[in-house]
Amino acid sequence: MPAENANLYAALRAAFPADLDQVAIETGDGPGAPLNYTWRDLERGSAMIANLLGGLGLPAASRVAVQVDKSVEALMLYLAVLRTGHVYLPLNNAYQAAEIEYFVGNAAPAVVVCTPKTFGWVSRIAFQAGTPHVFTLSDDRSGTLLDRASFQAVAHEPVASRTDDLAAIVYTSGTTGRSKGAMLTHGNLLSNARVLKAYWDWKPDDVLIHTLPIFHVHGLFVAIHGALLNGSSMIWFAKFDPRAVLERLPDATVFMGVPTLYVRLLGERGLDHSACSRMRLFISGSAPLLIETFTEWQQRTGHTILERYGMSETVMLTSNPCKPSDGERRGGTVGLPLPGVGVRIVDERDLPLPAGEIGSIQVQGPNVFKGYWRMPERTADEFTDDAWFKTGDVGRFDADGYLSIVGRSKDLIITGGYNVYPAEIEGVLNEMPGVAESAVIGVPHPDFGEAVVAVLVARPGMSAPEPAAVIAALKGRIANFKVPKQVFVETDLPRNAMGKVQKNLLRTKHQGLFAV
Ligand code: AMP
Repeated sequence: MPAENANLYAALRAAFPADLDQVAIETGDGPGAPLNYTWRDLERGSAMIANLLGGLGLPAASRVAVQVDKSVEALMLYLAVLRTGHVYLPLNNAYQAAEIEYFVGNAAPAVVVCTPKTFGWVSRIAFQAGTPHVFTLSDDRSGTLLDRASFQAVAHEPVASRTDDLAAIVYTSGTTGRSKGAMLTHGNLLSNARVLKAYWDWKPDDVLIHTLPIFHVHGLFVAIHGALLNGSSMIWFAKFDPRAVLERLPDATVFMGVPTLYVRLLGERGLDHSACSRMRLFISGSAPLLIETFTEWQQRTGHTILERYGMSETVMLTSNPCKPSDGERRGGTVGLPLPGVGVRIVDERDLPLPAGEIGSIQVQGPNVFKGYWRMPERTADEFTDDAWFKTGDVGRFDADGYLSIVGRSKDLIITGGYNVYPAEIEGVLNEMPGVAESAVIGVPHPDFGEAVVAVLVARPGMSAPEPAAVIAALKGRIANFKVPKQVFVETDLPRNAMGKVQKNLLRTKHQGLFAV
């Protein structure tokens, strides 16, 4: 018997409803909204783009780097890349030239897709790096990608893929030099989507409100695979507007958000039991959900948010139960290891610790990525000798096997669901005139979970940089979400005996800045 085609698109396509003329996606905002896309539109649109890519004569497993605004056509492009067996490389649309230069240089994509607005500088970077093809795609359906695809045939047979073939490369952050491309295979993504289908009890008549960006694991993989693998329709928002989402809750059954979105929704007076009466499931992840948000949500809506935990390198790892038969949902925890996923807490020597003890979180399973793109040493560093992946997160199991995340050993800041690596911002700050050194920290923020804050030390004999000017200089150089909300100039940075900056002291000092 021939082996099943492990191509992710083939598996998603097999789950589309029999009647392809049903609506698959309704847009809630964006040019021309509301627009209805049927399942046939998804199938044909992605086939046409796949045929366009197929006609370019690209080597197998070419990278297709995409930095566009969210649109259904951008989703079709993702599906098209899966169909062709090439490798999808989503890029945050906040990234600026220095960041794109790094990604394009590192990933060496054969195709870059950007917006008509960014074509000038993106294409210059891409052509200089040797990328042969640059297309444009706008959220109003204009641009060269669709112009060219419109001449293509509407039928396309997905290529035969093996479980181990690459489907996507997701960069772990927008940092120059340090950012690592996590290589995810068709098998990683499909196994995780199938586990979540069962664990979250997806039903074909579920309707998902999709309001997350589609350049990140949460919106691209967890949400989209969830809906498509169940033949469930989506109400699609390019931007998160709490009022608009609230208005559509009565038409939906599933919502996925980062904690910031839940906080914003709680700010809407109309959020109550009746607004959520058709809803089945609210899911939160990508950053810690405060227990206050969890509890207030329960009181206001009668629903208990299901918090789960995952990362770019592993897709989803743990989840609070969905079905009562699997257990209760516990606030402040990220739930239980998903079926088939191994999670252990270890000490500094990688030895497992008992329940109740805090240690490093390590994981194993069919969902765990293949390694970092062209960084074999970094990959080797992040796996133990017995093949467990070191997540960089620190946590603890309770006696019932629920995992709580207590910190991040890698010092990552998560602001509004986006990851910010302090070292990157510090590198840029340290190059500024008048700056001797800097420390970037995350402090609690009521809206974003954490806000980026920078502490600078002036160069001896030079006048201290003006905080507002520092912020202005950073804007346009790095993505806005990474720009510190506040900058302080101090005479020195607190350090321990080993000379390491004591960021914990800085965090404590500035923790009340945005009064949570
Ligand atoms: P990313 O690779 O962008 O998805 O970021 C992954 C990181 O986000 C993880 O390593 C965790 O530090 C953090 N994270 C994801 N989900 C949660 C959660 N539910 N609670 C706390 N941190 C989380």
